[in-house]
Amino acid sequence: MFDRKEYMKKYNNEYWLKNKERLSTEEKRECGRIHYYKNREHLLKQKHKYYLENKERLLAYRKAYHETHKKEDKAKQKKYWASTKGMLYLRRQALMRRSGKSVDDLNLVVFVNKIRFEGINCCENCGLFVGKNYHIDHIIPLARGGKNNFDNFQLLCPTCNLEKSTKTIDYRGKSFVGGGLVYAC
Ligand SMILES: [Zn+2]
Repeated sequence: MFDRKEYMKKYNNEYWLKNKERLSTEEKRECGRIHYYKNREHLLKQKHKYYLENKERLLAYRKAYHETHKKEDKAKQKKYWASTKGMLYLRRQALMRRSGKSVDDLNLVVFVNKIRFEGINCCENCGLFVGKNYHIDHIIPLARGGKNNFDNFQLLCPTCNLEKSTKTIDYRGKSFVGGGLVYAC
């Protein structure tokens, strides 16, 4: 029987080999990204397996590297904490401290990305433009058994968040026309 998957795999591989020279660096990166997301689970498993098999060697190497590259390591760390990724990590840590539970970090990343890229940056209660000065509120507070789920997040201005305190109020869509999300605010 004709195996379409197998055929496409072969075709893609041949295309890659033929056009490797022609593609720009950016296009090559894009190919790499697509390949990564298609095979993410498998690749991560592979990576973890490699780590477990070579743990001692890798850790020893890392330690030796740190001894000779202290300055670079420090600069790298500084850069990390100033980056979005580092900032998100700190936010996650703060959430974990408060909740005492582990956070489904992907949910938070998705939510923050939504704010950043889709421009939902108005308070969902009063409609005030919040920019970077926003609070991510739990609709059902963590103290009342709320979860760190995407469905339990809403964006509020600091004033509304303090006013809401530990009550359970769902403001989502309130400040937008027709109850839906309008991105031009
Ligand atoms: Zn508000």
